[in-house]
Amino acid sequence: MIKKEVLDAINAQINAESYSAYLYLSMAAYFEDMGLSGFANWMKVQYQEEAAHALKFFNYLTERNGKVVLKAIEQVPVDFGGIVDVFEKTQVHEAHVTDLINNLMNVAMTANDHASQSFLKWFIDEQVEEEANVQKILDTLKLIDGQGNGIFMMDREFGQRVFVDPNAAV
Ligand code: MG
Repeated sequence: MIKKEVLDAINAQINAESYSAYLYLSMAAYFEDMGLSGFANWMKVQYQEEAAHALKFFNYLTERNGKVVLKAIEQVPVDFGGIVDVFEKTQVHEAHVTDLINNLMNVAMTANDHASQSFLKWFIDEQVEEEANVQKILDTLKLIDGQGNGIFMMDREFGQRVFVDPNAAV
């Protein structure tokens, strides 16, 4: 049976991942409103990824015979100050999520819960990738410096992004 402190921490993380999903969906809405359907698509895939993270934690708790308890999702921002601002906020948010995952790992370590530590390793690696992805986008945006052609090309590229379900059997 999973220890209460680990159970509570994972339930809190399900809420945090759901907040992330909702945040990125809000960013997708912002891009749709700007007429940037490719950027919106990128954020919709991000939304799906975060929802899949929440589900991954959900399934893990079920597997460990722990009860999933869903709580209210905090209000997300609905307005942003342009493309760069959206990705800067994404970067800050992902750094925060990395802290949450690291704290979760600390809880599992203190509880001597090796199964949870093994499970959490996937998220530790995932956060490295998330942070690298956002950094790359911010670097490109800096290079483009608001030029219409560059934004157009990024929008076209981001329109190609597809969701790969981490919960799907491989
Ligand atoms: Mg996540």
